Amino acid sequence: MYTDLNGKVAVVTGASKGIGKAIALRLAQEHMKLVFNYHSDQNGAQEAVDQIRENGGDAVAVQADVSKEEDVNKLVKTAVEEFGDMDLFINNAGMEKETPTHKLALEDWKRVIDVNLTGTFLGTKAALNYFLDHKREGNIINMSSVHQLISWPHFADYAASKGGSKLFTETVAKEYAEQGIRVNGIAPGAINTPINAKKFADPELYAQTAELVPMNRIGKPEEVAAAAAWLASTESSYVTGETIYVDGGMKLYPEFKDGRG
Ligand code: NAD
Repeated sequence: MYTDLNGKVAVVTGASKGIGKAIALRLAQEHMKLVFNYHSDQNGAQEAVDQIRENGGDAVAVQADVSKEEDVNKLVKTAVEEFGDMDLFINNAGMEKETPTHKLALEDWKRVIDVNLTGTFLGTKAALNYFLDHKREGNIINMSSVHQLISWPHFADYAASKGGSKLFTETVAKEYAEQGIRVNGIAPGAINTPINAKKFADPELYAQTAELVPMNRIGKPEEVAAAAAWLASTESSYVTGETIYVDGGMKLYPEFKDGRG
């Protein structure tokens, strides 16, 4: 438990399921007050909010499309109206679309970039403005991916968005470090969430992916949430511009693990 998080306020985008939901639930366990953003799955977000309230916590679900500036600004506004302040903004919402690049429609490219990269920019901008206007320190966490480092055929739009997210995080961290605003990334490897649940339900496909992971298994959303809780807390007070890989070693060239090469 990170006692310094008690009573603090966080916004988590894309929190109706998967990694975002696990992060929001973990931060609620740390007694943070939560704005759960959802895009279309109102039930998913509301269920989590109800669960938190039943346990005596504070949470509210807010619909917003992270690719729209007015929607994102509404998330900060809600945090302040409901809970009086905002300490942490987590840009988690994301999507992917598998297509060979020569067949990738411009519209599909734009949508993935809009949600993953522009959404991260808009959330960061809204949070920065809040922190600067209130002359206070702040904390921003951007959900990236191992594909900010590892190229990924058929997912060029996704890899481009996450590669962009890496340098965006590092740049903004440098730009606002003096104001006490920390900006970090988390790069999950293969995590079992609705984005890939169908794939991992098939034992053959699960094994194919697990082979790419030195720890030889797919990760759990709660294992990503644990990294987010640490980055949210003052235990990481001297960390900014960093990306924590939560990937079972996936970025370590697993083909070389038996001394091959
Ligand atoms: P998921 O599909 O389970 O959840 C994605 C969430 O983003 C959903 O709640 C969805 O509604 C939301 N979302 C999508 N478009 C949105 C929009 N326009 N506005 C607001 N919300 C929107 O996927 P996940 O695996 O939980 O992914 C969460 C994040 O983690 C993403 O950024 C993803 O790229 C990243 N990630 C996931 C994995 C993995 O293996 N699952 C690996 C690396 C990175």
